[in-house]
Amino acid sequence: MKTLVYGLGESGLAASHALLEKGEEVVVADSNDSERLRSSISKLGVEGRLGTGPEILAEDFDRIIASPGVRPRDAVLAAAEEAGVPILSEVALGLDLLGPELSVAAITGTNGKTTAVDMLRAILAVSEVPHAVAGNSWRALTGCLDEVRDAGLLLLEVSSFQLHYMENLGFGVAALLNIRPDHLNWHASFEEYATDKLRIFDGQGAGDLALVSAADPVGRGAAGRLAAETLVVGEGETGVAGGRLTLRGNGIAAVEELPFVGPHNYENALFAAAAAERLGIGLDGIREGLLGYRLKPHRMQVVAERGGVTYVDDSKATNPASVAAALASFEGPVVLILGGSEKETDFAEVLPYMERCRAVISQGEAGPRICEFLEEKGEGMGVCLFLEPDLAAAAARANKVAHPGDVVLLSPGCASFDQFTGYALRGEAFAVLVAELARAGGGVGR
Ligand code: ADP
Repeated sequence: MKTLVYGLGESGLAASHALLEKGEEVVVADSNDSERLRSSISKLGVEGRLGTGPEILAEDFDRIIASPGVRPRDAVLAAAEEAGVPILSEVALGLDLLGPELSVAAITGTNGKTTAVDMLRAILAVSEVPHAVAGNSWRALTGCLDEVRDAGLLLLEVSSFQLHYMENLGFGVAALLNIRPDHLNWHASFEEYATDKLRIFDGQGAGDLALVSAADPVGRGAAGRLAAETLVVGEGETGVAGGRLTLRGNGIAAVEELPFVGPHNYENALFAAAAAERLGIGLDGIREGLLGYRLKPHRMQVVAERGGVTYVDDSKATNPASVAAALASFEGPVVLILGGSEKETDFAEVLPYMERCRAVISQGEAGPRICEFLEEKGEGMGVCLFLEPDLAAAAARANKVAHPGDVVLLSPGCASFDQFTGYALRGEAFAVLVAELARAGGGVGR
């Protein structure tokens, strides 16, 4: 079997290693050409083609492993599809190499994947159930096959990119948190994006568990059609009722007991709880895991409290739906910082929460468009709008306009690449800016 690994990021390299270890014939390729790629190829010790286009398919490959960064419209993938060459995502290859015996709990969604997987991981950890975590924002699956095999249980965070090129699924637990417009620069349309996300339920049978959200029209709409036992989170006996998280009618915890806030995080917790229950964890273990859970950095993370103002880093919010979720988590006045690199997304989803904002500061590449949109649509809501060139200026502005009791919230609703190499660096920069403003004595509380 001759495999072309196309796209040499972390997952492409892991896939190449896994195939080479099995003694398979591998050619690696990337549409870019750089020193880093050259050195990766020479370390792998395989044949590599850089700056490649569809001409590479003249070589006759039995299959292609596609990196999640490559779009289906990419010339090589489009030509391969046309020629009928099977295309697999790196996760699909990993699952293939692991075989059908493995137990898998897979979680997808536009927002909350990492958090829900992490909550499930925390619940399994306190109950000392062996497991391994991989996929999407975690490590590449093909890079940890032995560990996954030893654990026997895989918690898989899976993106629509990875689901797009996946066959023969059939996860024991499959969860779709939500589907909101995002990544439409990768997918041809929202419909294609939704179709890819729904693939997570493909191949499931009556003995498996499917989880969807009552608040998500796509998941809710699919619920009656799924082959697996389907639990709708946020409906009937599974949801937040009387201030308590309830799973199939059993109370897990009061929301004030939980060390995280926000209706979206309560929902993530319920998905994790339902998955954990299916994996054999009792209510006590679920409760203990959730009570000890701490959100990962850059997700609604309090980075400073000063002069009565709370500064929150939610840099991981890279689409308007996650901004709406963050705003829904705070009662009091919010000074919101939006903007980053331009994905042309629609910020209408934020409008119902505008009245919670004292001010909205738009910044970065997408700043002018967002500010103009809010000026037009938010008229009469009494929110002060500011436009600043970058995050530093936005943080300084926020510091000036915040009053004691306010939350200054960096929840940008955009990717970070206009000013940073990723959301984590943007969040760290925000924390540094807030600390510097404090040292300079910039004044909250006039
Ligand atoms: P993902 O891995 O899907 O990107 P994360 O858990 O990293 O999701 O969270 C990304 C952003 O989305 C954060 O700003 C977080 O506060 C927000 N978020 C988390 N869960 C949800 C949810 N269920 N609905 C909407 N937004 C969410």
